[in-house]
Formats: sequence, C-alpha cells, structure tokens
Amino acid sequence: MGENDAGVIIVGAGHAGGTAAAQLRQFGYDKRIVVVGEEPIAPYQRPPLSKAWLKGEADADSLALKPDSFYEQANVELILGVRVTAISRDTKTVALSDGRVLPYEFLVLATGARPRPLPIPGADLKGVMALRSAADAEMLKAALGPGKRLAVIGGGYIGLEVAASARALGGEAVVVEREPRILARVSCKTLSDFFTDYHRARGVDFKLDAVVDSFVGEDRHVTGVRLGSGETIACDAALVGIGVAPNDELAREAGLECTGGIVVDEHARTADPSIFAIGDVTHRPLPMYDRMFRLESVANALEQARQAASAIVGRPAPAHEVTWNWSDQYDLKYQFAGLPFDVDDVVVRGDPATAKFAVFHLSGDKIQAVEAVNAPAEFMGGRQLIGQRRSVSRAKLADMSVSMKEVAA
Ligand code: FAD
Ligand code: NAP
Repeated sequence: MGENDAGVIIVGAGHAGGTAAAQLRQFGYDKRIVVVGEEPIAPYQRPPLSKAWLKGEADADSLALKPDSFYEQANVELILGVRVTAISRDTKTVALSDGRVLPYEFLVLATGARPRPLPIPGADLKGVMALRSAADAEMLKAALGPGKRLAVIGGGYIGLEVAASARALGGEAVVVEREPRILARVSCKTLSDFFTDYHRARGVDFKLDAVVDSFVGEDRHVTGVRLGSGETIACDAALVGIGVAPNDELAREAGLECTGGIVVDEHARTADPSIFAIGDVTHRPLPMYDRMFRLESVANALEQARQAASAIVGRPAPAHEVTWNWSDQYDLKYQFAGLPFDVDDVVVRGDPATAKFAVFHLSGDKIQAVEAVNAPAEFMGGRQLIGQRRSVSRAKLADMSVSMKEVAA
C-alpha cells in the first residue's frame, strides 16, 4: 500500500488508537491503516505509570499495548514522534508536522487528554510535574525514593496512586486537596474517609479544603507549596494531578462539534460520517443513564475503539457496556462500575474497617454504581445488576450473608 492510498488514519497512538488499529484488522479490514502519534513510542498502557511501573514492579516492555512485531505482521503503519496539525474535510486529508499530507477514507481521532495546568506563580519551577506520558513518569520516578518529599496537588486517582507509590519507595508524601474530602467528585464520603484513613495510617499527610497559592523555590527548583492559609509545605518535588482536558482542538478547527470533548454518537461517529472519535477526547452518549458524558478510562477507550472499528467494517454495533474502572493503592484493589447519577441512597455492604467492603449507589431500587474495595464478587455482581437494570432489595444488599446472586428483589 502506497503513500497515496486512502484507508483509515488514526490520530493518536494511545490506548484507544492502538486498540482501534488492532480491532480493525481483527474485523477483517484490509485497506491501509496508519497510526500517527506525537509521542516517540508505540501505543502503551498508562495505568502502570502511577502504580506497578512507578514502584519498579513492572518493566518498560510490559507497558506496551502490543509487541513491536504486531504492527508489521498486521500491516499497521506507525508514524511516531509526529503530530497531525490539521484536518481538511473537503479533501479528506490530514497534514502532519513533518510536512506530509495523507489521504483518508475514514479518520479516527484518538488524541486523548492532557493534564490541566495549575496557573499559579512558581508553576514553571523545576520539579513541578504532571503525569500523563512515559516521559513524565521517568521524571517523576527520579524524584521519588528514601528521604525525598513529594507534594501532590489533587486528591484524585493520580494523586492517591502516586502518594501510595512514593511511600512504597520509602519517600514522604503530602496530598493537597481543594475539597473537604478526597475523591469528592467520584466517590461517596464512606470511600473518601476510608482512603484518607488508609493513607494516613501508611504515613501520607493530607491538607484538605486547601487552596494552593504558589510554588516557592530556590535556584529555579521547587522547595515548597504555599497554601492560601499562609502555610508552606516543604517538598523536593511537586506533582500536579488536578484532572485533564480533552485534546479536541483539531476537531474544533475542522468544524466538528465539541462540548468538553468531541461529540460522538453510539458508534463513536461524529456528525461527519467519515470521522470517528474515541477515548478520553470524546463527549459520548451513555444510553444506560440517558445522557452525554466524557469518560476517562481504559474500558471506555476499548469500548469506543470497538464501536468505531465495527462501524467502519459494517459490523453490527457492539452491545452497550457498563462503564468500569479500577485503582491499586497499597494492597487495595478498588474497582468501580457504573456512574452515580441521580442517586438517592447509598448502601454499604461489609465493614470498611476490614478493608473488604462495597458501596452501592441506588436510584430507587436500582443500582446506579458500585465501588468495591477488595471485594471482586460485589464488583462483578453489582456491575451485572447495573447492566440488567434489575431491582434489588436494600436489606439483602446490606447483608454479607446473602450472596450477590440473591440480592435481586
Ligand atoms: P491517550 O492514552 O492519552 O492517547 C492519546 C495519544 O494521542 C497520546 O499519545 C497523545 O500524545 C496523542 N496525540 C494527541 N494529539 C495528537 C496529534 N495532534 N497528533 C498525533 N498524536 C496526538 N484508566 C483506567 O481505566 N484505569 C487506571 O488504573 C488508569 N490509570 C491511569 C494512570 C495514569 C498515570 C494515567 C495518566 C492515566 C490512567 N488511566 C487509567 C486513564 C487511561 O490511561 C486513559 O483513559 C487512556 O489512556 C485513554 O486512552 P486514549 O487513547 O483516549 O488517550
Ligand atoms: P481527577 O481524578 O479528575 O482528580 C483531580 C483531583 O484534583 C480532584 O479531586 C479535584 O477536585 C482536585 N483538584 C482540582 N483542582 C484542584 C486545585 N486547584 N487544588 C487542589 N485540588 C484540586 O484527575 P487526576 O487524578 O489528575 O487524573 C488524571 C487522569 O488520569 C484522569 O483522566 C484519571 O481518570 C486518570 N487516572 C485514572 C486512574 C484510575 O482510573 N485508577 C489512575 C490515575 C489516573 P475537584 O473534584 O474539586 O475538581
């Protein structure tokens, strides 16, 4: 296949983009597939960057989404270290930062998201970091270890996972969170309290309800985080983990609708029938909750890669999935499924003090979401019940002696 053949061009060699290429070949797509990625490496998994890899428990090879040999065998062209700079919908071409112009029959935008910056004085000091890429993770890893103190801004997933990894590596960690509790946006208070206590018991310090005013430094390197209260937290490095923003500029400039992400339908298709968008960059329908939303998870990247590949090859659309995710901190396996929209009650099953329990978020007698800590049966059972829209009995759900198979009302 030559430079002028039009097939599928995938913009972004991340989790979604890499999966879409593999899925297309698996579904029998036989035209040209090109994946263009601005990072210099083939698609890899980001989750270990804050967990196993950061702690030195996984090597670089294990991060790869596919072995290097896959791309040649599957005849998928990887163009790495190069950005797509513009889309021309009239000519159905994309312009690359190396000057090339490539034609497409279908375009898949899988450009992901980037860390939100903290626009405060001192944010440009050395040692103030974000974590998204393998290159970011290399820098962060060098700042962790015995005797090193990390200040983490943001008590979300990145913040908590990195704080746990920093402690595992023998360093100190302090988490600064704007809200009165960590994980405020995604979890209930029971979970927030549980994780705060678990981290505190393992030496992590928390500053809650705290506004970060500035970073202070010496010789252009960060030495502290100044809070609105006037307190300064001394540190050797600072990690900003305050959420991400979608990389939707290419789509905007090409006139595609974007509302906090590229707007797509249930097939991951934009309003332009030749252009799809998948992964963290999309604002997508959630049929189960009857609304549009932007998800940031591996499961979402995989689901939408499958949706787009199916639509491109003309296969029936895959069944809707219940969104799910996980987080590893210390010896905790935290798994969650569904989303807590319109919740009017919360049922706790098991005792948080045992570090094995689950929280079910209910709307009426239906489970909207489940958060499970070291409780895989509750996670799997809850996820199934969410998908089936089955009514459940609160009393049975709260009773550990009743199996998850028997909690339906
Ligand atoms: P990305 O993986 O971000 O890939 C997008 C790619 O597109 C990037 O390589 C980017 O450089 C490239 N790109 C952007 N613009 C252009 C352009 N114009 N031209 C060319 N290339 C471009 N999710 C979970 O479900 N569970 C977890 O435990 C978990 N842990 C995580 C830990 C960390 C440290 C991080 C950072 C994320 C974690 N996530 C986790 C989130 C998960 O990694 C993302 O949801 C997933 O990577 C989204 O895939 P994506 O392909 O949409 O975006
Ligand atoms: P996140 O999960 O959105 O959490 C950001 C946290 O920072 C929130 O608690 C937020 O509070 C807080 N915050 C925002 N502005 C702040 C400020 N000025 N000062 C102090 N705190 C502030 O995002 P993230 O942890 O940065 O993670 C980035 C991305 O990586 C996300 O897509 C995430 O899903 C992904 N990731 C996922 C996992 C996982 O799934 N296990 C692990 C690591 C990373 P508010 O709620 O008030 O905004």
